[in-house]
Amino acid sequence: MLLVWGLGVGSLTGCARYRLYWGDVHGHTANSDGKGTVAEYLRHAREEANLDFAIVSDHDFGNGPPWRMPAAVWEQTQATVEALTEDGRFVAIAGYEWTSQPKYWTEYAGETLSEGLLAGSPRYYNHKNVYFPNRVPYLFSAKDPLYQSPDQLAAAVRRVGGLIHNNHPDHTSDGRDQWAYRVSQCDVIANTEVMPDVVWYEGKRYETQVESVIRDYLNQGGRTGLVGGSDTHEGKPAARTAVYARRLTRPALFEALRARRCYAVWSARIGLEFRIDGHRMGEAIAVRGSPRLTIRVAGTAPLAEVALVHDGAVLHAWQPETREAQIEFTDRSFSGASWYYVRVTQRDADPHGNPGRAWSSPIWVRATPPAATSTRGSLREEWWRSVLSSAAGAAR
Ligand SMILES: [Zn+2]
Ligand SMILES: [Zn+2]
Repeated sequence: MLLVWGLGVGSLTGCARYRLYWGDVHGHTANSDGKGTVAEYLRHAREEANLDFAIVSDHDFGNGPPWRMPAAVWEQTQATVEALTEDGRFVAIAGYEWTSQPKYWTEYAGETLSEGLLAGSPRYYNHKNVYFPNRVPYLFSAKDPLYQSPDQLAAAVRRVGGLIHNNHPDHTSDGRDQWAYRVSQCDVIANTEVMPDVVWYEGKRYETQVESVIRDYLNQGGRTGLVGGSDTHEGKPAARTAVYARRLTRPALFEALRARRCYAVWSARIGLEFRIDGHRMGEAIAVRGSPRLTIRVAGTAPLAEVALVHDGAVLHAWQPETREAQIEFTDRSFSGASWYYVRVTQRDADPHGNPGRAWSSPIWVRATPPAATSTRGSLREEWWRSVLSSAAGAAR
């Protein structure tokens, strides 16, 4: 479903270039440890959940011995996705969950091993979703020594034009090595699943610390956008990721996800736009002077808080108490290099008591170097300008 901007909040320049599409980037079927067929999963996405797109992402280990997804199952997944895609109406995307487990390493002493495993010390890479714009012959499985590390995986996925996101970041030892890849892989490992630090489920409180873990990664210089995934094992995908894309086609969605022009929501289709000096979420930009931020929210309930998160902490928070908000803010504390994202919290509750939320992808900001005073300086300035204009060209 499209979110139509301009219902009471006007419209910003350039809005017509992109439309907002809703989808789910993470879910399972009976091809691994979920329920139902791929076709049922996609029909639920399209007909019941009213999604514009859905990625199906079964575990690379399949659902039985020899604990590898059979090539025929992967082939069938890709065929189903193609058959149920209708450009402009619903886009299905074939993916899988690269499921790295320490027990696949021979030296793991935690439990009895049941299969021939990888050599070396256990690594805790956590899980990553991998998805493709076109057919690929087979998965790059975490159980294959060729694709056992995130760097190896990213290299293989880059060659076929695919994308990766980090799943359910973990603050325990299970996620110890989840960021162990070169920052330059961020063109392929583009996004990370976010969820609230604290989640209520059937009366119990769970401290996930997911948002905090991602903030720590960003503070270390990490580059990632934010997406949401239901990780459904019931065959029921839901609206968890919003993408600003030119049109509803697979190539346009991949372009938008690669550019991080996407954000995550929890239990509500909250409209969110975040710009700095006119640049959109997901971009890395240079500014002269203080960054000028624009935040626009179209909620589905009164907005309890719109928080601006900056370099690891909340820089400023507003309490609109209205359904819609437009905020202009100039960061006069800016001192040369910062990242920013926006988190929205509604004054409502899902059946478990969690409020509706949204998290924008970050924008990374650097100060434009001062005007050149020497030949060397002016060359440097020229180089910097060319980097910026090519980056802007790539993102638009
Ligand atoms: Zn997982
Ligand atoms: Zn999963």
